[in-house]
Amino acid sequence: MKILVTGGLGFIGSHTVVELQNEGFDVVVIDNLSNSSETVLTGIENITCKKPIFEQIDLREKRAVQKFFQKHSDISGVIHFAASKAVGESVENPLLYYENNIHSLVYILQELQQKNEANFIFSSSCTVYGQAEAMPITENAPIQPAMSPYGNTKQIGEEIIIEVCKVSNINSILLRYFNPIGAHSSAEIGELPIGVPQNLVPFISQTAIGLRQELSVYGNDYPTPDGTCIRDYIHVVDLAKAHVIALQRLLQKKNVEKVETFNLGTGTGSSVLEVITAFEKVSHQKLPYKIVARREGDVVSAYANTDKANRVLGWKANSSLEEALESAWKWEQKVRL
Ligand code: NAD
Repeated sequence: MKILVTGGLGFIGSHTVVELQNEGFDVVVIDNLSNSSETVLTGIENITCKKPIFEQIDLREKRAVQKFFQKHSDISGVIHFAASKAVGESVENPLLYYENNIHSLVYILQELQQKNEANFIFSSSCTVYGQAEAMPITENAPIQPAMSPYGNTKQIGEEIIIEVCKVSNINSILLRYFNPIGAHSSAEIGELPIGVPQNLVPFISQTAIGLRQELSVYGNDYPTPDGTCIRDYIHVVDLAKAHVIALQRLLQKKNVEKVETFNLGTGTGSSVLEVITAFEKVSHQKLPYKIVARREGDVVSAYANTDKANRVLGWKANSSLEEALESAWKWEQKVRL
């Protein structure tokens, strides 16, 4: 079966392409290389002995998307990762985010809507919950007003999909990721943020390798045991595997609703200081860090209730925080040294 992975050369997409190929799927990747590089294809090939078909297309170009679906009329499922994802940048340039994340989604759905049957998996985010009242967060927790244009594109994206699926033959699964980290154990693929990393773990590994002088911890006066923010860090390979399972659920028509939603996390929250300590342990490096003021928009705590994904998908995150950090460190060393 042929599966389209948009954004398939990015961080989560590339790991998902590997898992799809491992399961025998034929993969076609669309990516415009705005936040990735074609060399990722070699990393994927080194792991799986197979290079996916690659189409360098910008999904904001409606005509190019139409042409793609004419050429690949035998696509059985789409996993849609392609999006811009930097929260701060989205605040400075909201239209870039609405254009990229919404137009891309709409153009793909327009093509899928014309098919007799279509299966669509969407990269959503735990940001839709904002600061949830109860921990761990279930899929039924209320959606809070988005705190950034980026977050808003995920909420709007979910709404668009729900409305389109109601009136079409598209079935969809919305996957709400918590905090993906780590890299493939081979260190052939991993996270390669362009510029200053926005997320904790790449910042940590870049500091450990000497690329950044010091790590800033944003606030240690939050109402948490050590005062720093708590997140649910999930190994990217565990996350990638969940996509394959979700896709199989749609392909085998096991879904019970036209649109299903699942949290993907480990179910365990870790504070920033706990992550630093765990990283120091696995890397045998002392991390220089300083406590600075809170960062606007950060929620205090967010970790997943993963019962639904465990029960319905039969999926569970297997890797520990230490294993995920170890893989991130191995990748950082491979890339920089
Ligand atoms: P990434 O930036 O590494 O990957 C996205 C890929 O999409 C990149 O290769 C980029 O070049 C490509 N792309 C962007 N716009 C495109 C366009 N118009 N046409 C074609 N290709 C385009 O990001 P990621 O971390 O792998 O995230 C994947 C998805 O998961 C995104 O939708 C993101 O919003 C979502 N998500 C990520 C996180 C996270 O922490 N990484 C958390 C929750 C949700």
